[in-house]
Amino acid sequence: MTTHTTRMLIVGSGPAGMSAAIYGARAGLKPIVVQGLQPGGQLTITTDVENYPGFRDVIQGPWLMEQMQAQAEHVGTRMLWDTIVSIDLSGRGEPGTAFRAIGDGGDIYEGETLVIATGAQAKWLGVPGEVELAGKGVSACATCDGFFYRGKRVAVIGGGNTAVEEALYLTNHSPEVTLIHRRDSLRAERILQDRLFAHPNIRVIWNKKVDSFLGDPLAGGLTGLALTDTVTGEASTHPTDGAFVAIGHAPATELFKGKLEMDPSGYLLVEPGTPKTAIPGVFACGDVMDPIYRQAVTAAGTGCMAALDAERFVAEREFAAHKVVQAAE
Ligand SMILES: Cc1cc2nc3c(=O)[nH]c(=O)nc-3n(C[C@H](O)[C@H](O)[C@H](O)COP(=O)(O)OP(=O)(O)OC[C@H]3O[C@@H](n4cnc5c(N)ncnc54)[C@H](O)[C@@H]3O)c2cc1C
Repeated sequence: MTTHTTRMLIVGSGPAGMSAAIYGARAGLKPIVVQGLQPGGQLTITTDVENYPGFRDVIQGPWLMEQMQAQAEHVGTRMLWDTIVSIDLSGRGEPGTAFRAIGDGGDIYEGETLVIATGAQAKWLGVPGEVELAGKGVSACATCDGFFYRGKRVAVIGGGNTAVEEALYLTNHSPEVTLIHRRDSLRAERILQDRLFAHPNIRVIWNKKVDSFLGDPLAGGLTGLALTDTVTGEASTHPTDGAFVAIGHAPATELFKGKLEMDPSGYLLVEPGTPKTAIPGVFACGDVMDPIYRQAVTAAGTGCMAALDAERFVAEREFAAHKVVQAAE
C-alpha cells in the first residue's frame, strides 16, 4: 500500500478531470488523477463527436480522450489507475490538513485540494439490443447525436423533463419525432408539455414499454422498437431510424453522501457560477454537478474553473501561513 500526496487530487478522468489536470499542472500543483473504472469517461463509449471545438471533421470520442490524457501527462499530471472507495473530508480545508481518499487496493491519496469529476451515467432500459445497437441508432443524448439523424425518423423513450426536452430538440433535425411513454400522462413540467403537444412534428405514443431494440449492428443498425401495450398487453413494432433513451442520469456521488450537499437527484451542489462546494478546497466540476448541459465542452470548462479556484485556494493558504510565521518571528 502506498500513500500518494499532491496539491491537487482529481477524482475522475473524463473531460472535466483532464481539463482540471491540464490547468492544475500548468499552475505547478502537480496533480494526481485517479481514473476510476472508466478511464477517459463517457466519451470513451461513443464513436463520432462533431461538437467539440477545434476539429472541423468528425472525431472519435476515445481518440479525443487519449489526446486530453496525453496533454495532461505532458504538462506534469500523474495518471493513476485506481478507483476511490472512500473519502474523508473532515479536515474541511483547514491549514495543515489534507483531504484523504482510499483506493480500491488500499492505496491512500492525500490532496491539499480535491477536485471531484466523477461524472454521471445515463440510465438505460436494460433491454435486448440496447448495448449492441448503442451508437448504431440507439443513443442517450439528443444534443450529442441528434445531428446524425437529419431528415430521419426518431423516437424518444421517457416521460420526464429530459424526454420532452430531447424530443423538442430533435425537431431541429427530424421531421418525425415520436415520444414513447409507458404511462398515460407525462411527468414533465406543464410548460414543456404544452410546447410538446403544440409541436406539429411530435407524436406521442402512450402506454407502451420498449421490450427490445430491433436491427443488425453490423448491417444498417437500428430499424425499430418492439413494444408492449402496458394496458392491453398487445405487442407491436415501431419502425424508427434513431432511438433516444431519456429516462434520466445518475451522478456518481455515492462517495459523498452525508459529506457534501446534493440536490434530490444526487447532483453535487456548488456555489452558483463556481465549482466551489460548501467545503473550502473541495471543488466539483463536469456532469457530477451539472444536471442541465452535460456536454464534454461544459465539463472541460468547469474543470478549468475548478483548477483555477484550487490554485487560488492553495495560494491563499500559503500566504496566510507565511504571515503567521512572519508574525511569530
Ligand atoms: C454515448 C455518449 C455520447 C456522447 N456524445 C457527446 C458528444 O458528442 N459531445 C459532447 O459534448 N458530449 C457527449 N456526451 C456527453 C459527455 O460525454 C459528458 O458530458 C462528459 O463526458 C462529462 O464529462 P465528466 O468529466 O464530467 O464525466 P465523465 O466523462 O462521466 O467521467 C467521469 C470519470 O469519473 C471516474 N470516476 C467515477 N467514479 C470514480 C471513483 N469512485 N473513483 C475514481 N474515478 C471515478 C470515471 O472512471 C470517469 O473517468 C456523450 C455521452 C455519452 C454517454
